[in-house]
Amino acid sequence: MSLERRLLIEQGGPGHRGPALPACDVPVRPLAELLRGARLRTALEFPQVSEPEVVRHFIELSVLNHHIDRGFYPLGSCTMKHNPKINDELASLPGIALAHPLAGDDASQGALRIIHDLSRTLAEITGFAAVTTQPAAGAQGEAVGLMMIRAWHRARGEGERRRKVLVPDSAHGTNPASVHLVGYETVTVASGSEATVDLHALRAALDDSVAAIMLTVPNTLGLFEPEILEVTRLAHEAGAQAYLDGANLNALVGLARPGDLGFDLMHINVHKTFSTPHGGGGPGAGPVAVAAHLEPFLPVPVVTEHGDRLRWDHDRPRSVGRVHSFYGNFGILARALAYILTHGESGLSRVSRTAILNANYLMRRLMASYDLPHEAHCMHEFVLSGRGLRKHGVKTLDVAKRLLDFGVHAPTVYFPLIVEEALMIEPTETETLDRLDHFAAAMERIAREARESPKILQDAPTTTPNSRLDEARAARELKLRWSVPGREASVAAARSAERQTIGRP
Ligand SMILES: *Cc1c(COP(=O)(O)O)cnc(C)c1O
Repeated sequence: MSLERRLLIEQGGPGHRGPALPACDVPVRPLAELLRGARLRTALEFPQVSEPEVVRHFIELSVLNHHIDRGFYPLGSCTMKHNPKINDELASLPGIALAHPLAGDDASQGALRIIHDLSRTLAEITGFAAVTTQPAAGAQGEAVGLMMIRAWHRARGEGERRRKVLVPDSAHGTNPASVHLVGYETVTVASGSEATVDLHALRAALDDSVAAIMLTVPNTLGLFEPEILEVTRLAHEAGAQAYLDGANLNALVGLARPGDLGFDLMHINVHKTFSTPHGGGGPGAGPVAVAAHLEPFLPVPVVTEHGDRLRWDHDRPRSVGRVHSFYGNFGILARALAYILTHGESGLSRVSRTAILNANYLMRRLMASYDLPHEAHCMHEFVLSGRGLRKHGVKTLDVAKRLLDFGVHAPTVYFPLIVEEALMIEPTETETLDRLDHFAAAMERIAREARESPKILQDAPTTTPNSRLDEARAARELKLRWSVPGREASVAAARSAERQTIGRP
């Protein structure tokens, strides 16, 4: 099978219809007449297809790709967890889905309540004083957090001097990118032999030019920082702020609160912790939680309580300003609150415990077949190395491709950068023992194949709609347009007519 498929426009034929409606009993007038002679895109014929044709077309497309509703998806660092469908259903209620950002505070009390309750709940879960729900992703949350840190240093007259942000070499790429975006300079701090923060390296890098340290906890190898209290204490001693990249909060909820660990602020990837499908690049949300001293710098507006009424407060002179149109990705925030409320306090900590248990189960089992560069009790994910397979001519990429033949999405590969041939595995809490065993068996078989018949791995996958791409050719001869024989000319003619009509060159 190949990826060559027919578009809807290439299917069906004249007279294929969806529902059969009774004959129209009002006079029919051509659209052009109603629009007083405006030129219409008459050349852009719509497909004429029956309802089963449309439904089958999209169902077929939906199974061409791998997704969490189809199979196991152990993509480390991304937390591809199952998203309870009730969250989608709640977020689709008309009062939520159709809420209008210009409706005014009085007509939006329910929506404001969702944002307010979510903010308060996130503050409680993370141990901070206040939360902004505006940032649209973890990466934007990082940038907003750094903007608040800068505003705080400036307010203390240290804005000029503090220009650096310390980031460990295991960090996610968005950390240095955000640092650069807000105009700070990244200083990379080497990890210690255990892949956690090296206190000597940290001490050496901390001085009065450092604005903040940015840490991921648990770190990108899935390891909890054993010296975390000392790390945040050292940062404060040097006058710097301690920022937590909270993408891995799925391992901490109900077990540890970053605010209690000495951090000053963090972002929360609600799409990695409190459900929300996030394949295909979004949408997500990256609320930022801050300690009391940073509260004045939160983006505007902020929800405030006046008796039993809620209002948007725009009058915040020390704010870093607005960072998103209106109030953030509201539908995603509604899903997060639904997830938190349906699980409750004990349910949320069970989520974290189960995620940790599942990861440790797989790690213990797979360390017999693959290298485990840092043997320690892991949190919600762990990193193996495929370097031992190199002698058979097999790379981590081949392992990832072969897994697709077993109906499993590949783990994250070649990240974090500090592990050679990295394979980063995150099973999440919702997978059953049966599913974990199936995955482990597939990984064990792949390790055996690497020794006995490496060609199978180099040629994989063979059961997917498309096999391995020629990546160099795909980049050189990039074709982004689907051409349908005979349609090119008529579409081009329609485009040119349209351009003339609206007066563009
Ligand atoms: C996912 C992730 C980010 C970025 O978050 P987005 O919501 O994808 O922008 C940052 N840091 C870590 C550790 C992550 O896993």
